[in-house]
Amino acid sequence: MKVPFGGLDRQHKALASELEDAVRKTIQSSAFIGGTAVEHFEEEFGAWTGSDEVVACANGTDAIFIVLKALGVGPGDEVITTAHSWISTAEVVDQCGATVRFVDVDEYYHINADLLRKAITTKTKAIIGVHLFGQTFNGPALSAVSEEFGLPLIEDSAQAHGASLDGAGVGSWGVAATYSFFPGKNLGAWGDAGAITTSDSSLARACRVYARHGGLKKHDHEIPGINSRLDALQAEVLRVKLPHLAEWTRRRRFIAARYLEALEGLEGMRGLVLPRVRPGANPVWHLFVIQVDDRHRIAGELAERGISTGIHYPRALPFTKAYASLGYTPADLPQAWRNQDRILSLPLFPEMTDDEVSYVVQQVRSVLYANV
Ligand SMILES: *Cc1c(COP(=O)(O)O)cnc(C)c1O
Repeated sequence: MKVPFGGLDRQHKALASELEDAVRKTIQSSAFIGGTAVEHFEEEFGAWTGSDEVVACANGTDAIFIVLKALGVGPGDEVITTAHSWISTAEVVDQCGATVRFVDVDEYYHINADLLRKAITTKTKAIIGVHLFGQTFNGPALSAVSEEFGLPLIEDSAQAHGASLDGAGVGSWGVAATYSFFPGKNLGAWGDAGAITTSDSSLARACRVYARHGGLKKHDHEIPGINSRLDALQAEVLRVKLPHLAEWTRRRRFIAARYLEALEGLEGMRGLVLPRVRPGANPVWHLFVIQVDDRHRIAGELAERGISTGIHYPRALPFTKAYASLGYTPADLPQAWRNQDRILSLPLFPEMTDDEVSYVVQQVRSVLYANV
């Protein structure tokens, strides 16, 4: 059996006629930028996330960048974020001309709230937390630090559409949450797409102004801005998919529960560590990340058995070439340093069949046993 890492082809097959109608509708309207499609998507995504304000934009990286700019982050400022994320979370700080500071992760792969508190300096201007792998970070602890120091917290929610903690959804703890609709995310477009949600209407306005050439009316440029818009075509594709997101999320949760239950007894074998669920958290399982000793060998053996795996991400951000000049050492960020060589993502996507799920469980067990 061959188990791919993702199932976008299957998702598109299932929704083919609706998606093709959406494309046809866009062509017929000839409104390719902005217009009612984008407005409708903003309303619908606001209703889905329970947000007062949604600002659609070109991608999830821009979404964070736009919020930082709207908050006035610039040269001389520092922004603190997690050592373990996709590069976007850090590079947006550089795009503002500010300096990124990294903090080590907790056992859930999220920024460690105690270490965050210690990392704050007089130069700190904002905090970016990441709901990595589809599970919420420690929202109450992070928002307490944010309030204590008067520092805005941004929730990078690119991997966490619909995740919650003690009933509070993503977006509950910070000044804004940012989303990506990159095709492989839990809600994906047919290209790049992103959005910002917030309950702060003046922040929403500032984001909208910055992302729309610095103004809300044509030829009325209040500030020098950028061009970061959601295409109408992407908005229509997302509108077709959004009503299915809850059902896809349920399926992700079902598969994760199967993996956890079936592999629980093997913890420790070849260094196996299963994902920990934060007490009270209801993750959306963007990724199912295990840890093992000798990751490359195990990934290779799974590949021989037809199972695709991934690594998210092979290097913690402070240890990439891009951030080498900041001079972080393994002793500064021991958890992220250790995790980077041990993590391995198993296939988990809503379109996986029960047979595929069983096959993955069986093969992971067999590979671990074979190597004791
Ligand atoms: C995907 C992702 C982003 C960026 O989204 P793009 O739409 O690809 O720009 C930002 N942060 C995290 C954690 C992501 O996974």
